[in-house]
Amino acid sequence: MKSKIKRKCLVFCLAILMTLGGCERKPEKVQSTGTAMGTIISQTLYVKDAEGDRYTEEVLQEIGLLEGEISRRIEDSEIAKLNSNRSSVVSDELLQVLQETTKISKDSDGALDISIGELVLLWNIDELLLEQENGKIPTKEEIENALQKVNYNNIRFEENNVILDGNIQLDLGAIGKGYACDRVLDYLKKQENITGGIVSIGGSVVTYGCKPDGNHFKIGIMHPREDGMYLGFIEVMGECFISTSGDYERFIEVDGKRYHHILDPHTGYPAESDLCSVTVVCDNGFLSDALSTACFVLGKEDGMKLVEKYGAEALFVDQNLNITMTSGMEKMFTQKMD
Ligand code: AMP
Ligand code: MG
Repeated sequence: MKSKIKRKCLVFCLAILMTLGGCERKPEKVQSTGTAMGTIISQTLYVKDAEGDRYTEEVLQEIGLLEGEISRRIEDSEIAKLNSNRSSVVSDELLQVLQETTKISKDSDGALDISIGELVLLWNIDELLLEQENGKIPTKEEIENALQKVNYNNIRFEENNVILDGNIQLDLGAIGKGYACDRVLDYLKKQENITGGIVSIGGSVVTYGCKPDGNHFKIGIMHPREDGMYLGFIEVMGECFISTSGDYERFIEVDGKRYHHILDPHTGYPAESDLCSVTVVCDNGFLSDALSTACFVLGKEDGMKLVEKYGAEALFVDQNLNITMTSGMEKMFTQKMD
């Protein structure tokens, strides 16, 4: 009897010793879904402490903070103030984003143009979506008038002062979600007890660290013509940014014609480049988002040249659902077979 108790004690002590001296807490998976920037934010984080909900909450707050800086719809955001005051001093970080965007505008011959605000307002796709068949497509004249107010050359920089010439209005819709992914990565990297994660902000995704099982992060690429279905998956490891621009995200159909939210700054109409979606993978969130929009407008051939110039990988899906990829993308993408 005595020896039985002794043995039990020994096992118990060994168990305590193993717990105290053994390896640290295994990362646990924490998942959350929320909204910010007018879209759905999905998070999967691998966390070594019991603070999972706090981390997902703070990620949402980070995204909300950036929205408060760059959304033209939020009255006292830096961009809204710039649009109404025509000139203002901005943070070093925003200055860099605006300057780099202007560079991509030049390199894409204006396919990406964040001075497109007037045209976006005119089309007001979200309103059209609500109205459906009662929605009004802008007239040629209205489009020509709005186009007069679109020109990225009218964004000037004098040190940290950004000056808007002409009647341009900035709209950062094409880069905002990717930019938010950069902010999320900065946040995740600062958290000692987060070992990995994947956060998606609408069409932009950031991955960080690793999964506890050592497997790749798997990012589903939406099928452009089959609602809620995936075309395939991209597999990545570590820090990576993935952005998709597609004509299926926000659109209405009038007389059998699709009018979507990605506008061609040369014509004033939704871009008709024979593509229905473009996905870009690179090591910078803002850049992946900027390039996916630019490539969508440019089309496959010029888009391919643009991503090569920026050292990014891309996947183009045309209207016949043919897929074209850069060589690096071929190694990451697996098409879903039914
Ligand atoms: P994305 O979904 O990232 O391709 O961005 C599309 C959003 O960017 C639209 O909802 C507009 O707010 C804005 N936008 C549309 N066309 C352009 C364009 N050619 N250049 C810059 N921004 C655009
Ligand atoms: Mg974009």
